[in-house]
Amino acid sequence: MNELRFDVVGAEGAKRFFGALTPQTLAHAYCFTGPSGVGKKTFARRLAQSLLCLAPHSGVLGYDGTCSSCALFRGENARHPDFLEHEGVLRIGERDAPAAFADGEALSARDLVRQLSMQSYSGGMRVLLLGDVEFATLHAANALLKFLEEPPAGVVMIVTTATPGRLLETIRSRVVEVRFPPLSNADVAEILRRMHYGDADAQLGASLSGGSVTRALAALEQEEESLRAAVVRWFFESVEGKSPQELWATRETLTEGLETIKMLVRDWIVAGGHDGVALMSVDHADRLRKLRPLGRREAAALLAKLDEAARLARTNVSPGLIGEFVRMALTSSR
Ligand SMILES: [Zn+2]
Repeated sequence: MNELRFDVVGAEGAKRFFGALTPQTLAHAYCFTGPSGVGKKTFARRLAQSLLCLAPHSGVLGYDGTCSSCALFRGENARHPDFLEHEGVLRIGERDAPAAFADGEALSARDLVRQLSMQSYSGGMRVLLLGDVEFATLHAANALLKFLEEPPAGVVMIVTTATPGRLLETIRSRVVEVRFPPLSNADVAEILRRMHYGDADAQLGASLSGGSVTRALAALEQEEESLRAAVVRWFFESVEGKSPQELWATRETLTEGLETIKMLVRDWIVAGGHDGVALMSVDHADRLRKLRPLGRREAAALLAKLDEAARLARTNVSPGLIGEFVRMALTSSR
């Protein structure tokens, strides 16, 4: 028997809860509650993968990751025909034209009934993952209630919500609630690392996350924005021959800062020459056009120096020195 795994960071309570279940004791409908960004959907996707995995199972949690069913869960988007996921807030019954399940924000009551009553493609189970559900009409809510009262065999529905209080009581009382508390900072950092953030960013994001990956990502994005703003300010002041205070060149931010500068230099070259060529940094177009036009030779020399700086950034040379090297390159090309 293949080794089964369940690759989810945190969510210990939910792991224990589902770990104690067997396919026979699995309910037909679950509601995962908890703040946004704590891994409700991730857990639901891995649970779906477990339920659809073809490897022999005694329990509910776990998949081999290698069977033909697991292959359909690889990558960003699961494309398993027996796993249907609807992102975001789902307004059921907003319109009555039939629509595909996965596109559009609204789902008619008829779509829902059809989805709930469809046969499995692979002869196994079907799993439906719905984001926050709102009902536009009573008719729509009744369609879901009917499913909950007489669930067809082999269908598991998971609703995720940060606001369980907004679910209709008649529905809430018929689903099994599983709570997802905020993640620990260590778990958030681990998740960020798996998303290919460097160690420093992962730690920073985790410390600002309040246990939510969504919030960690927003905080990191804000950091990135303010880094970019600092680099842009420094770039213009350097080119204009001032001696700006350099705050952006640190071990963690050097590579990204250099990329921003390279983009600005390319736009500087474009801004001086051909009118109507689109600039990457549209926000700074006016200021770039006011800079002295760069000659072709100067431009090539400057870009070569930026490449040199990028190479140095991968060595032990201090970030401050590299920043100064770039500043001199920008200044001497005046
Ligand atoms: Zn599998």
